[in-house]
Amino acid sequence: MIKIDGKATSSKIKEEIADEVKQLLSKGKKQPHLAAVLIGEDGASKTYVNAKVKACEQVGFQSTLIKKDDDISEQALLDIIDTLNNDEEIDGFIVQLPLPKHIDEHKVTMAIAPEKDVDGFHPTNLGKMLLNLPSFLPATPYGIVQLLDRYNIETAGKHCVVMGRSHIVGSPMSVLMARNATSANCTVTITHSRTQNLKEITKSADILIVAIGKPEFVSADMVKEGATVIDVGIHRIEDNSKKKGFRLIGDVKYNEVAEKASAITPVPGGVGPMTIASLLMNTLQAVKNKK
Ligand code: NAP
Repeated sequence: MIKIDGKATSSKIKEEIADEVKQLLSKGKKQPHLAAVLIGEDGASKTYVNAKVKACEQVGFQSTLIKKDDDISEQALLDIIDTLNNDEEIDGFIVQLPLPKHIDEHKVTMAIAPEKDVDGFHPTNLGKMLLNLPSFLPATPYGIVQLLDRYNIETAGKHCVVMGRSHIVGSPMSVLMARNATSANCTVTITHSRTQNLKEITKSADILIVAIGKPEFVSADMVKEGATVIDVGIHRIEDNSKKKGFRLIGDVKYNEVAEKASAITPVPGGVGPMTIASLLMNTLQAVKNKK
């Protein structure tokens, strides 16, 4: 069984990006600059944004963090986005989701200029992805494609089952895996909460990508012998033996599924670090696109 190490792969990608940044600077170009907008005090969102800012430092990007209270009006947030869209210094930016209930996420996503949308959530980028045109790919699915590619997981002609159909993970993931491209070319089945005979479907997967947000939902009896299993889920569960008082688990029962799988991502250290690496790759691409 191969443990697909997202932490090591993400470090390797960061080294590659840092080298490219050094080359840009040696040619007198400016430092790539990523901005992040964080609304409110959600613990997980703060952790993700801080990790993104830290990753920028590691690769030599400039980063700007804009923090606002969760009572910010929708219009005030749209004004911030407008300023970032028009700021020549900023190459790309993200608005950390989820947003407070009174703010329309779709309105916010649509307001981000597609050429700065390094999260890849704008309809223009999603549409380009469907057409197999160059675009910013949504960070988590892009990171998973990178993992499959860098671990030489055979995908062409394989049956890939994607569990979950969210706009940020499951749906774009299914599109990417079905594309006529390297690290894709699969026959894809997408499942969701209304899917019948779920186990029958997941057991037929050569590649099983799980993004349902249900702690340790996938057990060994749902997985085919020798399958590749990608666990996107992240859940904090109380654990007083840990310094922080919690530990992270995924949507997959790791220990029992690892015994059956030929390759599997752990949680933590699997998909999570790759999401950040993809964001950095998209930001570097935004800089290159400006030329
Ligand atoms: P989401 O928006 O809550 O969507 C969950 C999807 O799973 C929905 O489409 C839902 O179906 C489907 N679902 C629920 N129960 C199911 C079942 N029993 N069988 C099959 N499908 C089922 O979640 P998300 O944003 O995609 O995130 C999923 C998980 O990934 C979460 O744990 C999240 O924290 C994690 N995540 C991790 C990263 C990372 O970087 N590692 C990034 C993003 C998300 P319906 O559409 O029918 O409701």
